[in-house]
Amino acid sequence: MEKTQDLFINGEWVKPSSEEYLNKYNPSTGELYGKFASASKEDVDRAVDAAYDAQKKWEKLTSVERSKYLYKLIELINQDREALEELLMDEVGKPRKEASQEVDGVLDQLQYYAEFARKITGDVIEGTKPDRVIYQYKIPYGVVLAITPWNFPAAMVARKMGPALITGNTVIVKPSSDTPFVAGWLVEKARQAGFPAGTVNLITGKGSVIGDYMTSHKKISVITLTGESKTGVEVMKSSSSIMAKLILELGGKAPFIVWKDADLELAAKVLMWAKYWNAGQSCIAAERLYVHEDVYDKFLNLFIEKTKSLKIGEPRSSDMGPLINKAALSKVSGFVEKAVSDGAKIIYGGNKPELPSRYSNGFFYMPTIITDVKQNMEIFREEVFGPVIGAMKVSDDFDEVISLANDSDYGLASYLFTKDVSLAMKAAREIKFGELYINMPGPEASQGYHTGFRMSGQAGENSKYGIEEYVKVKNIYIDYSKDPTKGEVIPPYT
Ligand code: NAD
Repeated sequence: MEKTQDLFINGEWVKPSSEEYLNKYNPSTGELYGKFASASKEDVDRAVDAAYDAQKKWEKLTSVERSKYLYKLIELINQDREALEELLMDEVGKPRKEASQEVDGVLDQLQYYAEFARKITGDVIEGTKPDRVIYQYKIPYGVVLAITPWNFPAAMVARKMGPALITGNTVIVKPSSDTPFVAGWLVEKARQAGFPAGTVNLITGKGSVIGDYMTSHKKISVITLTGESKTGVEVMKSSSSIMAKLILELGGKAPFIVWKDADLELAAKVLMWAKYWNAGQSCIAAERLYVHEDVYDKFLNLFIEKTKSLKIGEPRSSDMGPLINKAALSKVSGFVEKAVSDGAKIIYGGNKPELPSRYSNGFFYMPTIITDVKQNMEIFREEVFGPVIGAMKVSDDFDEVISLANDSDYGLASYLFTKDVSLAMKAAREIKFGELYINMPGPEASQGYHTGFRMSGQAGENSKYGIEEYVKVKNIYIDYSKDPTKGEVIPPYT
């Protein structure tokens, strides 16, 4: 039987005031998977009011007290983790192993943020006159609107809920309409963990009805969005009237450099992950392959051989599942057609795979390798977000390859394979990306700061820097002398 999911507002599952529900399809079969609530503006108001009121009490708890709710949430997710894995397989089409890794990621991140309870510190600074002191407290902003994408629908909710809650903010989760049920599952676990009413809320619905309304709502103080770069720009515009603090984790177009001295076997193995993880639907996916001319043919042959061994199909018995929806399928195949019309060549894939009839309406696309790509072709400029990689042969000029890598509107993840430590250190200095993986795969760690340069975003998540995004610095000036006449009333009075 198909599922139906309501909104979660002020500690209760409630029907949307419109009484409208939207359809979610299973990406492996194309069949209807469930219906989820389409919130109205009044529902948004209810959720925001609930989060706003709850925050006043939530911030009065100590962070150690707040962490107890997070630890309970971790325990409940862990106990029932298979159910979340099943949801990730059905709702996103993730292979079993990747669904399980995502749940590990959820637990790891929540654990990391819960452990921060005793690490949120301020500063005490001496004043500029005797007997004066300045306290700098880290205080929560208020209500956090957490807008999440579908590609890591559980991990992205955890990555936003964890730091927001531990620092004393309350949260409204607004998941992608492609993954409402994963978010709903996590919010239900938060309910079971006993988070006070209003601390965690869930709003689902149509962007055209509630998108701008939510992101320009006066009672929202922080908007943390993971999504496409163009969505980041839209949210920046719509939230400008409320001066919300923005945390934007946006698109990527990762360069993957294989130098002449690289361990080719290792590089090909990592590229299998960097390209086909989540069917290429990852912000840190390798999207531009630059290979040194001396090893170009050898490396591509190795990569094709490995690619051939990839089992594509339904999530429970495959290495790579479908794309998320029909629009994604036509977008990805459109990029491939355009690359060919621009003069590039498909050397592997470029079509839909042959699968049993039950999956013939699924949104599957073959792993695809394209050569003869030029730097200015669309396939090297736009985020493809699918199992497609374009390759370019590069000469023995390392400076040139660094400029090619940097020549992108995006700046999230990048990869380099070389045994030459001088080149590795040069790249570490000169590659203008938020993260560079040298001779290793990602993904990012909870203790690393995940941040994008250029159109890949602003601010960041994870690590102590990511936590700092959720607190404001409040300054308290105190004069504790017994001589009030000492205090001037004209500047400088610190
Ligand atoms: P998307 O931008 O289409 O949607 C993301 C979220 O924003 C969804 O919840 C969507 O409903 C909402 N949204 C869309 N337009 C909105 C608007 N005008 N106002 C308010 N909300 C709006 O992205 P997606 O397709 O869900 O996710 C894929 C994108 O996310 C890719 O570009 C990928 O690179 C990026 N991503 C980035 C990271 C990172 O850490 N940088 C991680 C995962 C995904």
